[in-house]
Parts: sequence; structure tokens; C-alpha cells
Amino acid sequence: MSDPSSADRPVVTRIAPSPTGQMHIGTARAALFNWLYARHTGGTFLLRIEDTDRERSTEGAVQTILDGLSWLGLEPDAEPVYQHARAERHREMVEKLLETGGAYRCYMTVEEVAEERERARAQGRAIRSIWRDREAPSRTNAPFVVRFRGPLEGETIVNDLVKGPVTFANANMDDLVLLRSDGSPTYNLAVVVDDHDMGITHVLRGDDHLSNAGRQSLIFEALGWAKPAFGHLPMIHGPDGAKLSKRHGAQAVGEFAEMGYLPEAMRNYLARLGWGHGDDELFSDVQAIAWFDIKDVGSAPARLDWAKLGHVNNHYIRGADDARLAALVGDIHAGRGLVIHEAGRAAMDRAIPLVKEGAKTLLDLADLTVFVLKIRPLALDEKTLKLLDETTCGRLGRLGVRLDDEPEWIAAPLSKALQDFAESEGVGLGKFGPALRGVLSGGATAPDLASALEALGREESLGRIADALSQVQ
Ligand code: GLU
Repeated sequence: MSDPSSADRPVVTRIAPSPTGQMHIGTARAALFNWLYARHTGGTFLLRIEDTDRERSTEGAVQTILDGLSWLGLEPDAEPVYQHARAERHREMVEKLLETGGAYRCYMTVEEVAEERERARAQGRAIRSIWRDREAPSRTNAPFVVRFRGPLEGETIVNDLVKGPVTFANANMDDLVLLRSDGSPTYNLAVVVDDHDMGITHVLRGDDHLSNAGRQSLIFEALGWAKPAFGHLPMIHGPDGAKLSKRHGAQAVGEFAEMGYLPEAMRNYLARLGWGHGDDELFSDVQAIAWFDIKDVGSAPARLDWAKLGHVNNHYIRGADDARLAALVGDIHAGRGLVIHEAGRAAMDRAIPLVKEGAKTLLDLADLTVFVLKIRPLALDEKTLKLLDETTCGRLGRLGVRLDDEPEWIAAPLSKALQDFAESEGVGLGKFGPALRGVLSGGATAPDLASALEALGREESLGRIADALSQVQ
């Protein structure tokens, strides 16, 4: 059986996450590929919330998905479809299948199903219901489920866009329950009806759903509907090649956000997990959209590589607008309980362009800027106190006077001034640099001395030097 073509319809893709409390990075990658393909083809990208598990599908869990997509910049092109709200429509389609013979009522008891399961396992075959070819019993109010009447022979072939043709022997597929005895529709039925009704042309999802594609294909056929094209994406593995799990660190989109990765860096990095355009590692959304094609998605599992992600994130931090970075880093400082005073805000604005080169994450950027937020007089660390002997104090005193003469308080001339001062003292920078660094930073991470001075500003820098000298003298 070949797939009826959906190539003549405008492309409609979707992401169909189940709200489980977190948004897995694999879901984010699937969302990205569906979004890229829709943008590439001028099609539409939709969101369906698969909230049929009423216990797990809390409002908070749904919100996590909406927030995750929004943070990633992968907004769907229409309001989300909520699967649970469509149960009536799902039941209607089960009725239709009952009418056409594509489904039947199965009155097997729980015990009978368990026995059949045992027999099937022992004989290495799929579960079969005795009601497949039997009339309904006379006791009409007996509980029943509705099962799909699948073909017993032949093969179902899914021409997967990533894996190539995948063959399922029909004899190995049991007659799937479509409707439970409480009247609730099951997962595979709901997916088929929803994908059809939403006009989905391409289903790109994790390859843990590959076997569902065989079952879903049969349901599409039984309902007389054109199938979407399927593309099953390889799993994301940890750096060691094992399936991504808690011990590899972050797995949820929210965790990556908290670790200080920028959404555009995540888009770029995730795009490379399973897809590629030659050796290009860094590319814009515009380039990714222009280049993305499902045929270039590889079938081998992709490995999460933290060093690469850090490299990509650093690239986007360096290119990011400084005011935006200041706001993001300000939130991190505030989250750590730091009060950002007016002068501190201005110092942060000056510091960010001077230090961002060395930041792999926004957390790094917070660590690299915390020194400007310290409030005078700074508590000096042990190491700095040791360095502040009489000679060094005398030198720092003279340096303060010398720096105060600087007409412009910017890194390049300040760096020259430091060199000139060292020469005039007949020593190397190493003789007073570490003490100056300690005095300016209070022991926190700081960039090179000239950048630290520029970030702090004239008054704050000279004030910190004076504070330190009066503290030890
Ligand atoms: N709800 C499924 C999941 O979260 C996805 C189903 C699909 O994409 O067809 O894994």
C-alpha cells in the first residue's frame, strides 16, 4: 500500500505534545523542525495539546508547553487545538468505523484479555479478539470496548521521510482498542482524527512513535482519508551516546533557559541535532529556513554536546544587543537577591560589552558583572589584604592620582596609562596588578584591569582604591 500523496496540498505541520509537567528538549527539537519546514515551504505550523490524560494535563503543565514554545520563538500560526475537547468527534469517527465494518465491539472481559495476551505471547502472535467475527451478545448492556478491525495479512508500508520505507506485517498488529469501555477514545484514534481534521500534511516527530505510524496508517485508510507524510526523527542522546536522561543534566526547555542559554542559540543548536547543512555550525533563522529540508535529516541518534552548545551560545551572546543582555542578566542578579542600584545599572551597561566575549551563558555573564554591583566600601578578601603591603599601598595611592588625570575613562587609554605608570615606577604590572584587581573587584571575577576600570567608572574606581588604602593603613 503506498501513501496517498499529500504533496499537492499546502504544507501543514504540527507539534502535538502531551502536557507532562515539563517540555522535553526532544519536543523542542521536533517543534523546531516542524516550524522550519512550514516556514521553508510557506506552509502553516500548528499546535495540538494532547491532554487526554486528565490527571497529568494540569493547567500548569499546559502553560509550560506554551511558555516553552514562546521562549523558543516557535509560535504556532493558530490557536492551539486541545485534544480532550474533541472527544465527541473522536467517538463519531468510531461510530463511522463501526458502520463500515472497520471496527467492532469486543466484549472480552479483563480476565479473558489477560488470558489471550498470555496465549498470544506464547505463540508469538498478536492479540486477537473472539468478537472480531461474532455477532454482539444478546445481553446488550454488557461492557465493551471498540476495536479496530485490522487486516490479518499483507504488509503496511510507511514511506518514512527520514527512515525510508518501513514495513509492518499486518499479522503482527493487534486489533487496537479505539474506544475504552468508559467511552473514552484512545491515543492512536485521536491522533488520526485530529491530524486529518487539522489538515496536517507532514508529521515530524520522535522515532519512539514509529510503530504508531503503522497503526495510524491503517486507521487513516479505514476512514478513507489521505495520510500525512511521516518523518520520524532520531532520538537525542547524551554526550556518552546513551538515551538522554537526568544524569546528563538538563532535559527540559525551562532548564536550558535557567542555565542561561539564549533562545536563538537553542534554535541554532537544536537544528544541528539531526539535521545539517554541510559543515555549517552557526547560521541565522533566515538561513535555516532557506536550507531546511526533511531529506537532510539524518537517521542516526544525535548527541547533545555541551561544549558545542556553549560555543554556539557564546556566539549569540557576543552578537546580542547589550541592553537586552543587561535586562536578562539583571534578572539573574535580582533572582540571586542582589539589589541593583541606579549606579550599578549604569555600570552593568558599561560592563556587558566589555566582558561578554568570555561568556558561554548568561550565568557566566552574571558572574562576570557581579563585581560592579558591589557596594562601597568593599570587603577585601584575604589574598588581596596580603598583597596590600606598604610598598603596594604607596604605589596604588600614586596610581590613583595618576589615573584621575586621565581625560577619558575608557579601556584603551586606561590600559596605556597603567603601562606608563608601571614604567614610571620601574616595575612590571605584576607588582601591583593583582592587588588592584582585588581592590576593584572585592575578590569577584573581573575582566582585565582596564576593562574593570571602565566598567566601574572613574568615581567608583578611584573610590574603591581610596577605600582599600584607608582600610589597611
Ligand atoms: N503526544 C505525543 C508525545 O508527546 C506526540 C504524538 C505525535 O506527535 O504524534 O510524545
